[in-house]
Amino acid sequence: MMKELTIGMDDDKLLFDRYCEIASSFAPCMNDYLYVYNLAEDIYYISEKAVDRFLLPTNIFSNVGEVLSKLTHPDDFDVLEEDIAQVMAGKKDSHNLEYRWLGREGSPIWINCKGNVLKDKNGAPYIMMGCINEIGNKQKADNISGLLGESALHDNVIRLLPTLNDAMFLRIGIDDFKIINERHGMEYGNFILREVANRMQHCVGPLQQVYRIVSDEFMILDLSGADYEEMHRLYHRIRSSIDEMVASEHYKAIYTISGGLVELRDVDSSQSEYDRYSEIMKLSEFALTEAKLRGKNQLYYFRPEDYSAFLRKRYIRGCLRKSLSDNFQGFELHFQPIIMTSGEFLFAAESLLRFTTPSGEHISPIEFIPILEDSGMIIPVGKWILRNALEMCRRCREFSPDFMISVNFSYIQLLKSPVYEDVRRALEEADLPPSCLIVELTESGHLENSPAIQNVWQKLRSLGVNIALDDFGTGYSNLLNIGNLKPNIVKIDRGFTIKALQNSYEYELLIHVIKMVHSIGLNLVIEGIENRMELAQITAMNPDYIQGYYYSKPCPKDEFILKYHPAGPRTIA
Ligand code: C2E
Ligand code: MG
Ligand code: MG
Repeated sequence: MMKELTIGMDDDKLLFDRYCEIASSFAPCMNDYLYVYNLAEDIYYISEKAVDRFLLPTNIFSNVGEVLSKLTHPDDFDVLEEDIAQVMAGKKDSHNLEYRWLGREGSPIWINCKGNVLKDKNGAPYIMMGCINEIGNKQKADNISGLLGESALHDNVIRLLPTLNDAMFLRIGIDDFKIINERHGMEYGNFILREVANRMQHCVGPLQQVYRIVSDEFMILDLSGADYEEMHRLYHRIRSSIDEMVASEHYKAIYTISGGLVELRDVDSSQSEYDRYSEIMKLSEFALTEAKLRGKNQLYYFRPEDYSAFLRKRYIRGCLRKSLSDNFQGFELHFQPIIMTSGEFLFAAESLLRFTTPSGEHISPIEFIPILEDSGMIIPVGKWILRNALEMCRRCREFSPDFMISVNFSYIQLLKSPVYEDVRRALEEADLPPSCLIVELTESGHLENSPAIQNVWQKLRSLGVNIALDDFGTGYSNLLNIGNLKPNIVKIDRGFTIKALQNSYEYELLIHVIKMVHSIGLNLVIEGIENRMELAQITAMNPDYIQGYYYSKPCPKDEFILKYHPAGPRTIA
């Protein structure tokens, strides 16, 4: 237990200056930050290097409460304020709190602030002095692996960057390390981390340094001027060594490693050393994630074009998210007519989703639908599409009573949301019969092989909704599926249509598909007819319906209604 310190009034001012002097002479020997807080006179001193790291105006300042309120993470300030109030009120003689300060760029940094209170001779708190250390991932060295940590990598790279032209950063992660910990316990997990670290150190050369950066991730900094091939060989040496280790442990835990390789050249050299270091970490994290996404147990070599694609996807995902929380702002349905071949009547319209970013960029559904699917956003968006498409159907039925609406569904909706209940409720709310809805599903392998999807498919059919098998002629097309899935309508993809118009073999094939579809009592839509010549050739094959730019491009609802409303210009071509 520390003895309580008391000081006399006469020494007060001198004492604060003395403590600051002592702290500043210790500061260069420490990674932590020393501070002296003059509670009575509201002045705060902290080691100078804290100004480089935290959002501090200078290392000596007054109006301490105000500065701390800006420096401390908003969620933590109340707790800090309360603790200091207790110190000031003499209710506590020490301070020991973990909370977040904001870094220079505004990002939160976890700290542990400890301090001891000195009182004046009247017993009033006068000075609090102590030490602040970072408890986030700024780890200088790691006792489990015996390697240097991220903080050491940071300091070394920052020191070397001004004179460094060439360097390679190989970030290595143990695949599914969480599972090892879960199955075999932390102790065995630590043993593996230590062994992997040892083996990496045996594999590297003299100008290659190994660091442990976060739990199951390591970084090899290459300063030997190695090229891609040499780094590739290094990765494989480490991998083989780890395979040997897995075997020597009698396959108790089977695991692999992935690697992401970044060259210093990939990083913008016009930035400050601190920014270059952050970018190296960001790109190497991307590279490692990419190796894992591509199947793990492999090395991925950073390619700027992949990173741009990743950033673009992230940007679009952000815009889509924003749109969802903004009541679907930016989403719009367009409608394309599906025309009955006999007599060229309007039969239905396919609803096609459109998306415009807040900055006005139109994104193609080919690009944004997969992002909606990956993120699960397709589920709320799908409900919005259905509601709006049915609303359009209701409006069109006012002038065309048999009008039907065709809506694209993603297999993710079928797998992960109660589509049957959603469809039933949406039809009820729109006061429309199930027969006015066509649900379009793309053959994808998922449809044919998933019992869950086949179950929803059957339930929708028995409700009386029509089902269309979309994009026939691409990817997974299989005539047998038509028999198994029993859709009401088969839609032939434009790709297949085009080939049939250009090549006699595909032409014959399409004729046979149409005959076969008709022979089992189903209807057929040919998609993607763009001109009169294509129309004449395709009509000769006797499909039931045609959809394509020849009749109309997909258009906004008012334009569609104007075009097809009996009171409007009635022609369909
Ligand atoms: P899809 O369902 O096969 O839709 C037909 C696509 O062909 C549409 O592209 C349409 O604009 C285009 N198209 C129609 N006629 C012609 C033509 O004569 N020539 C050419 N070159 N193209 C034609 P779009 O609107 O870009 O949609 C692409 C795909 O995105 C759709 O293919 C569908 O798979 C998906 N998609 C669009 N809207 C939705 C939606 O609301 N939900 C879901 N899940 N997917 C959608
Ligand atoms: Mg479709
Ligand atoms: Mg299609």
